[in-house]
Amino acid sequence: MLSLGKKDIIARQPRLTAYFADLIQHKKLVHAYLLTGPAGSGKHELALWVAAGLFCQHPVKGQPCGKCGECQRIFSGNHPDVIDLLPAGNSIKVEQTRFLKSEFNSSGVESRQKIIIIENAEKMTASAANSLLKFIEEPSGQITVFLLVASLNQLLPTIVSRCQLFKMQLPSEEQRIQTYQQEGLNTLLAGLTVDIQTARQLADEKTVLELSKRLTQWFLKILNNEWLALVDVQVKFMPLITNKDEQNLFIQLLELFSKDLLRCAIGTKMVYFQDQALQFKQRLTKYSLTKQLTAVELLLNQPRLQQENINFQNLLEALTLQLIKCYHG
Ligand SMILES: [Zn+2]
Repeated sequence: MLSLGKKDIIARQPRLTAYFADLIQHKKLVHAYLLTGPAGSGKHELALWVAAGLFCQHPVKGQPCGKCGECQRIFSGNHPDVIDLLPAGNSIKVEQTRFLKSEFNSSGVESRQKIIIIENAEKMTASAANSLLKFIEEPSGQITVFLLVASLNQLLPTIVSRCQLFKMQLPSEEQRIQTYQQEGLNTLLAGLTVDIQTARQLADEKTVLELSKRLTQWFLKILNNEWLALVDVQVKFMPLITNKDEQNLFIQLLELFSKDLLRCAIGTKMVYFQDQALQFKQRLTKYSLTKQLTAVELLLNQPRLQQENINFQNLLEALTLQLIKCYHG
């Protein structure tokens, strides 16, 4: 689960990783950090990365090497001094609370460096939160706590006010595209997921890439005024679209494709369907801007139509006819 390439978090949070590397290098980490941000913003990855920077055997300017034994133990969740607490069910478990309390209360006697990561910190029990507060007020030992929450208003203000707060954003689409490219992933996947692990999974499953290939072939037929595009719906699409999830995926692909067509229309580069960019660019210049924009609108209208429970094959066939009419009518 945590087989995180260390490049990922540096690319996703360049400023924060640089900031923490500097703190690690100058031994200036404080006792409590609060990381907030939506899923996919890299809260957990950042906390682990800091832990690795701290324990790494060959750090470079506060940055973990990602390869040594210590780094590997941390990134695989097996380091005794990096404590990663995930709440079970609705709240952090009693044993976990007890454990936290004993960690926080252990005086400076045990001076081993420790990192404690508390995910979904809003689910801490009152008792755990009180121990945490006490620890923040009178920190002991070399413990650094990372509290991770999706949204600040779920956490006690007393805790928020006593932690160093970092608001993390989702990486911009541009950053994602760049990262995915560096990882050898199809840029199309950057439009489908903010999570690089999920992107890798999608790439392995191949359905997405096959569907997108068929989608561009279908669209080229439309541009060539070939009525076979209509047959494609039944023969090329439907066998790969057998349930609601796959329908949603296809609708998402259509949306990304329409964004690329819009880019083409206004003279910027296609970003998702880069492999076919040149081919489309050449063909689309033949059509007026109005026609191109009408086609984009038709594509963007599909999610709404899909919600009206129209049979999916009928929906795509109607779309095909409308597009042919739009370009060639
Ligand atoms: Zn290392």
